[in-house]
Amino acid sequence: MDRCIYFDNAGTTQMLPEVLDEMMPYFLEKYGNPSSIHDLGSDAAAAVRLGRKRVAKALGCYSSEITFTSGGTESDNIALIGTAGREGRNRIVTTATEHSAVLETCIHLKKQGFEVDVVKVHPDGTLDMDDLNRKMGDDVSLLSVMTANNVIGTIQNIRECSRIAHENGALFHTDAVQGFTKTDVDVRKNGIDLLSISGHKIHGPKGIGALYVREGLDINPITFGGGQERGLRPSTENVPGIVGLGKASEMAMATMESDVRKMTEIRDTIIESVLEIEGSALNGTAESRLCNNAHFRFDGVRGTDLVLRLSSKGIMASTASACSAGDTEPSHVLSAIGLNVDQALSALRITLSHLNTVEDAEYLAEVLPSIVKECRQ
Ligand SMILES: *Cc1c(COP(=O)(O)O)cnc(C)c1O
Repeated sequence: MDRCIYFDNAGTTQMLPEVLDEMMPYFLEKYGNPSSIHDLGSDAAAAVRLGRKRVAKALGCYSSEITFTSGGTESDNIALIGTAGREGRNRIVTTATEHSAVLETCIHLKKQGFEVDVVKVHPDGTLDMDDLNRKMGDDVSLLSVMTANNVIGTIQNIRECSRIAHENGALFHTDAVQGFTKTDVDVRKNGIDLLSISGHKIHGPKGIGALYVREGLDINPITFGGGQERGLRPSTENVPGIVGLGKASEMAMATMESDVRKMTEIRDTIIESVLEIEGSALNGTAESRLCNNAHFRFDGVRGTDLVLRLSSKGIMASTASACSAGDTEPSHVLSAIGLNVDQALSALRITLSHLNTVEDAEYLAEVLPSIVKECRQ
């Protein structure tokens, strides 16, 4: 079967041809090092400047506030490690449903002697604000709360979170890898100090990301070398990657409103049809949910079984997250919202892009009921 319906856009996205077109010259012709003073060098430096300007515009900040990194994971690492112990504050507060790029970095920092407190979430995935307020204090250096969850799609109230962080004299970081181009992540409006994004989740290339660091905020690097990226992220710039991230950001922002509307419509069609299957349930919240996320569980079904059978029908989906795919351990996110092990292992994640169509949703509705039945036998 040649059909390929891609429903794993929280795992990664298809790069747009327009993005590749802009990147290509920086591999083959304009391959100079942006630090070189000859013409090929200044061409590359100009491309980096344009990429930075485009990303800054998408986030509502200055170019000087953007640091390019190798992706969302590295941006999260720099944000957390680079601010740990700031002003003698020894504690970091984060949430139970963060991406492993945040949670594993917290485990590392704990081993270094820092304290970490993890805020609970409600069964729908939204943050328990009472628990957050209880856990904040004047010894907290950083509060890190993701904009939107990569597994169940729950959108957090980052504006309120940043307010609470600042009330306690702490910095506020958000992993906006999933939220960027799908929710409003304007850094000024939301009072954000640090924000992570990734190229390959927004139809750009893999291996490129950015960290927004608010002007005037001085954070420590975690790698050392040349002075690139004002010393915060030394290493020769990934010029084609930066060009691609800039182009992908610009393109996504230009059509964000209509793309979000389209994805929401397809998502709701999917949710409606899947919930007609007996013994199915929606994970996460119906209200504060990413436009491209539909996450389900099915009584008596193995999620991995479901994903493999869907794949043989040409539908690419996932269970919880790409990082945990194939794992026999339940996703920490699904445990955090109170699912038991069987429920957590029965999950199906459908994540859309603007490239999906209503026909894709109809095909899923056509094949899924019998696949679920097969899995139960
Ligand atoms: C994908 C993802 C990351 C990691 O980004 P990479 O660019 O793959 O390192 C971090 N956080 C969230 C929420 C993600 O979905």
